[in-house]
Amino acid sequence: MSQRFQSYIDGQWVDGSGSTADENPADLSTPVGEYGVLDAALAAQAVEAAATALPAWALSTPQQRADLLDRVGSEILARKEELGRLLALEEGKTLPESIGEAARAGQIFKFFAGEALRIPGEKLASTRPGVDVEITREPVGVVGIIAPWNFPLAIPAWKIAPALAYGNTVVFKPAEIVPACAWAIAEILSRAGLPPGVFNLVLGAGRTVGQALVEHPRLDALSFTGSVPTGNALLKQAAARGLKIQLEMGGKNPLVVLADADLEVAVECAVNGAYFSTGQRCTASSRLIVENAVYDDFVARIQARLATLKVGDPLQPGIDIGPVASQAQLDTDLSYIRAGHDDGAELLFGGERVEYRTQGHFLAPTLFAAKPGDRIAREEIFGPVAALLRADDYAHALALANDTAFGLCGGICTTSLKYATHFKRHAQVGMVMVNLPTAGVDPHVPFGGRKASSYGPREQGRYAVEFYTSVKTAYTAA
Ligand code: ADP
Repeated sequence: MSQRFQSYIDGQWVDGSGSTADENPADLSTPVGEYGVLDAALAAQAVEAAATALPAWALSTPQQRADLLDRVGSEILARKEELGRLLALEEGKTLPESIGEAARAGQIFKFFAGEALRIPGEKLASTRPGVDVEITREPVGVVGIIAPWNFPLAIPAWKIAPALAYGNTVVFKPAEIVPACAWAIAEILSRAGLPPGVFNLVLGAGRTVGQALVEHPRLDALSFTGSVPTGNALLKQAAARGLKIQLEMGGKNPLVVLADADLEVAVECAVNGAYFSTGQRCTASSRLIVENAVYDDFVARIQARLATLKVGDPLQPGIDIGPVASQAQLDTDLSYIRAGHDDGAELLFGGERVEYRTQGHFLAPTLFAAKPGDRIAREEIFGPVAALLRADDYAHALALANDTAFGLCGGICTTSLKYATHFKRHAQVGMVMVNLPTAGVDPHVPFGGRKASSYGPREQGRYAVEFYTSVKTAYTAA
């Protein structure tokens, strides 16, 4: 019998209405399960439960919160294979990638367990005689978390863990196509000893459940990761009602390959960055900018490497690229492949769906030689489709790298300290990689971008404290 995933409100499992299939993108004939969607009224109830639970939770001791988050992290780490399997089944990334993501989610809970014990404050001398000044951090309040489908364990973890660590209560709305991973996190949290209402899961549509969160007057802050149009719409609503908001959105991340690069390293960085996790990473290297002198050599090498990649069932050993996560995303990918052809880009690899023994959303890794103005070189695709651009020299490569509305991540492959140093300084991004894929970041340091990619304080690492706390300055006559 297929499993039915439920929401979790005020310490109770709550079923929604109807029955939405939770698809297995590698085999459409065997869904992972099903779930019922909440209406706006139930989503509002979750915010109210979180608001009611807030005062007591905000006064819980750092040790209580540290112990609890540590238990959650330990359970996720102990069950990383099983959770990874669920992730691979539901979202489609390969099993090793999925297990790695589950482990990362566990590490993030462990990291913030430690941070709960290190909430910073300051005491300064006042400019006035006989006065003490202290700066403390308090929970920001009820935090709404709206997450995407591409990292269905890690992204919720890097929002939920700091929210709870700093004494906030949470209402978590996952993306529609990954209810099982969200339910798995909620199930672990439901047994971790949280008072009712401190953590709530609301399954349902962005337009109803997501909207109910952002519109609710008792929501104090909203952390969102998803698409640019949704993020920008939420930003306007948040501004209109003075809601604290943090947005992580798209990327069109450049990977520059200079003539002096180790081409073997460069090809691995490009293939990993552009195609692993089926290219469904906001940090994916979707623009490969290669210096003229090595362009032909790079093309020959990457074509040969792409020919070795196996697309298929993510649970099978030896598979390098799983399916695209949904029909909607596949349609987007295919429409960009058509746009590549329409704009006159030259197809260098892939470009079509892959036949497999099961019926799923399989797409070949696709590479186009493009021009900087082509849609495939400018717009985020979020699939295994990359645009190759030719650069005359380093200066031209840097100009191309920065010629984008986005600013999440940028990479360079070079053996020159001079160019690596210059790129680190001048790439207009939040994260820079040297001789590494643009995707693949550590869990204990800040994550985020500039320009159209991000808005608000950084996520992860110690910098997460900025979003999840509110600063208070207190003056005392001594
Ligand atoms: P994608 O195109 O990758 O699905 P979206 O931005 O549409 O990206 O979705 C990211 C998250 O935002 C999902 O959890 C989705 O349900 C939610 N969402 C979508 N539309 C809205 C909305 N109008 N209000 C609040 N949340 C939304």
